[in-house]
Amino acid sequence: MRRAACPGSFDPVTNGHVDIISRASALFDEVVVAVGVNAAKKRLFSAEERIDMLSEACAPFPNVRIDSFDGLLTDFCRDRGVQAIVKGLRAVSDFDYELQMAQMNSSLSDVETVFVPTSPEYSFLASSLVKEVATFGGDVSGLVPPLVLDRLRARLAGDA
Ligand code: ADP
Repeated sequence: MRRAACPGSFDPVTNGHVDIISRASALFDEVVVAVGVNAAKKRLFSAEERIDMLSEACAPFPNVRIDSFDGLLTDFCRDRGVQAIVKGLRAVSDFDYELQMAQMNSSLSDVETVFVPTSPEYSFLASSLVKEVATFGGDVSGLVPPLVLDRLRARLAGDA
């Protein structure tokens, strides 16, 4: 069984994330989306909300499941029998940090990192930018799954 992890904070999940997850699901027998739940980091959406939105967005992929982690990703991978970490690379600017992280992770464990180039239509897409644009009333409807759009609108309109 070849099992991969797609890690991130997914605050919230975007169509760029879904693209990488779906492509990982075609390459591996099973994909675990690993949602970072570090309580010290300020998020727009709670861990439960982020997991909920991911569960809906990944429902079309039967070999994808959602899980959370709160420590070292390499420990998560060891505990879940994950052999590879799949990361999307949007631009050269992602590369330096991702290479450093991949090399650190491989020094900590025998987990491999696999880089998948982002589809060009999503190369400018980041959760932080989606939130910023949505905050100022910009249209992000083509950039996130429908449930995320609804939740973003509700959150920015001032729900709890
Ligand atoms: P973090 O908050 O840990 O930086 P994100 O939740 O923003 O992580 O993203 C998690 C991972 O998803 C990234 O490391 C990257 O591999 C991938 N990713 C993010 N945005 C995109 C995108 N637009 N296209 C493809 N992959 C992406």
